[in-house]
Amino acid sequence: MIRINENYTKLKASYLFSDIAKRVSAYQQANPGKPVIRLGIGDVTEPLPPVCVEALHAATAEMGRRETFKGYGPEQGYAFLREAIAQNDFQARGARIEPDEIFVSDGSKCDCGNIQEIFSNDLRLAIPDPVYPVYVDTNVMAGRTGANVDGRYEGITYLDCTPANGYVPQVPSVAADLIYLCFPNNPTGAVATRAQLAAWVEYAKKNKAVILYDAAYEAFIRNPEIPHSIYEIDGARDVAIEFRSFSKTAGFTGTRCAFTVIPKTLVAYDAAGRAQPLHPLWNRRHTTKFNGVSYPIQKAAAAIYTDEGKKQTKALTDFYLGNAALIRQAVSKLGFTCVGGENAPYIWINTGRDSWEFFDLLLNKAQVVCTPGAGFGKCGEGHVRISAFNSRENVVAALERIAQALK
Ligand code: PLP
Repeated sequence: MIRINENYTKLKASYLFSDIAKRVSAYQQANPGKPVIRLGIGDVTEPLPPVCVEALHAATAEMGRRETFKGYGPEQGYAFLREAIAQNDFQARGARIEPDEIFVSDGSKCDCGNIQEIFSNDLRLAIPDPVYPVYVDTNVMAGRTGANVDGRYEGITYLDCTPANGYVPQVPSVAADLIYLCFPNNPTGAVATRAQLAAWVEYAKKNKAVILYDAAYEAFIRNPEIPHSIYEIDGARDVAIEFRSFSKTAGFTGTRCAFTVIPKTLVAYDAAGRAQPLHPLWNRRHTTKFNGVSYPIQKAAAAIYTDEGKKQTKALTDFYLGNAALIRQAVSKLGFTCVGGENAPYIWINTGRDSWEFFDLLLNKAQVVCTPGAGFGKCGEGHVRISAFNSRENVVAALERIAQALK
């Protein structure tokens, strides 16, 4: 008799954004004359930078000629892209990362969801709360947790991110083997200082642990003191994997390209306690289950590292940061405290009220969609996330409506 993976039954009934979509769609059906502005899901709205479009056209033309046509490429990504990444994203910041330590993929969601496959099933997890739900759910699916009791899975050390710690989790007093960190953070928009990251690297060394560092939003960092990569911290090469994505950097959410860095010096331990490098394990996994990102998409991604590409992507992230500044200003004026929005595209508002109630209030009275903090974890209760990903016109209109609704 065929059996299901029972771990899936431990997952909460539905994914946060489907719950939101259902409520929004019900509202729209009941109120067809009231257009809704979405500042909920973190999807970009602005078109691809022109350098990427040009690169896509040129690469597509190459695919159409016998002499330049390409079939399967290297599963890990073409050298031109891996070299541009290593040089611009890491070496230029003093981080020792080589092109062959980079694995190009079609998205960071898959990478940070799939990475847990190369680790044992009985390890101790430390995961922030609130959190991007993928880290928790993929470990639930793999059977690394117990049941969900009162909104939290048994077997996870939750790292509380609260107003008291500025939403940056401190190292716990208990040991963990696999730690998830995300900076600039989704959902809170908080960033970690060099000293805070150094404390995590030290903790990982002491506990022979691995940090999974999600830097999907690094392109929004403007404060020069804030590290863009965990590899800017001494010793991080030996304890951390980093995830990056072109989704928010260059508007690739629909185009799909990302990468994962696994330094060759990074190890985990086998049952006999012998150190085993993780690079060959992920290489084996990646080459077995993935066949590479398409050539035109990798060409488009590489275009962001040209001088013109850097200007265009900076203008794009500056634009969203301009929205974020307006949102921060407006919510502060309404008397709320918030974090994020300065080096991140998300603003995390401390509403002091039930987060789904506040979500319904904004939807019903202002026709604005936000994301209820409780959907990201227990510590998200009392907060909502507002995303800066929208047109200026929509952001301005949404803020006016919110101000009116909360008067
Ligand atoms: N990591 C975080 C923290 C995210 O917020 C997202 C997307 O919203 C991703 C990863 C996924 O990015 P991608 O589009 O590359 O799959």
